Amino acid sequence: MKKIVVISGKGGTGKTVVTGALAALSSNYTAHNDAFNNGAVMADCDVDAADLHLLLNPAIREKHEFRAGVTAFIDQEKCTKCGKCRQVCRFSAIGEDFSIDSVSCEGCAFCSFVCPVGAIEMRENVSGEWFISDTRFGPLVHAKLGIAEENSGKLVSLVRQEAEKIAKERKSDWVIIDGSPGIGCPVIASLNGVDCALVVTEPTLSGLHDAKRVISVARHFGVMVKLAVNKYDLNIDVTKSIEEYCRAENIQVLGKISFDKSIVEAMLKGETIVESSSEESKRQVKEVWEKLCCLTKDA
Ligand code: SF4
Ligand code: SF4
Repeated sequence: MKKIVVISGKGGTGKTVVTGALAALSSNYTAHNDAFNNGAVMADCDVDAADLHLLLNPAIREKHEFRAGVTAFIDQEKCTKCGKCRQVCRFSAIGEDFSIDSVSCEGCAFCSFVCPVGAIEMRENVSGEWFISDTRFGPLVHAKLGIAEENSGKLVSLVRQEAEKIAKERKSDWVIIDGSPGIGCPVIASLNGVDCALVVTEPTLSGLHDAKRVISVARHFGVMVKLAVNKYDLNIDVTKSIEEYCRAENIQVLGKISFDKSIVEAMLKGETIVESSSEESKRQVKEVWEKLCCLTKDA
């Protein structure tokens, strides 16, 4: 089983469009079918703004709560209103009526230690949901983090772990991960232990800057990095700068995908590049996939 994560230094570079195309190709791959024929399991690790499901149209098979962190809860029947808990709470999370403000509570549990009558219980927070779904290209594990909830790194790790478990059971050839954007904790959780990180960038100076940052994170964790330029023909000069940077850094550019209205139309229909776009775009994304297959086969 090979694990590929598709990442970008920021959102909006076409990362999910490329992930969707790889998912489609993995389920219908023939050029190396002697080695790869058991398809893929997909993992959407962009848990703050998940959108791979828009392309893969999943039918939810299992739904689970994601629990992370704890919040204090006061049993008003037991509480004697002694005020000790309010005195020790450094976050002003306990009101005059001895109810807990769950937004201010940091879950330190100090109040529960000082309560003389054991009226305070620490309860786990439900911070989001995660799902196992069926798609036309194979299983998808995805998640939704609650509004203003943290712990997305932990949820990303959970999504990855579940996808890998399913892939092992099915003897899948691939785990294809739509990585988290940015360079923070969630993207590190997306990168952990993968065989290859495919960085998708667009030809703008900010795109190049963001790609460089995420590449340095991936390299820091010892992950093999490859790159693809999306909408490369929108700025040929910057595309050349990206290629020069990659040459200097010994990063292979697996392909360049044109700006193509048919890709936008495919997305609006909830379809991948492979299913519904121009022959040229299909060829370009296939090239990326075939090179990835060769790399990970040898890895
Ligand atoms: S758990 Fe900590 S932050 Fe929350 S109410 Fe108790 S003392 Fe305050
Ligand atoms: S310490 Fe316990 S008994 Fe005292 S006010 Fe707080 S919850 Fe109530």
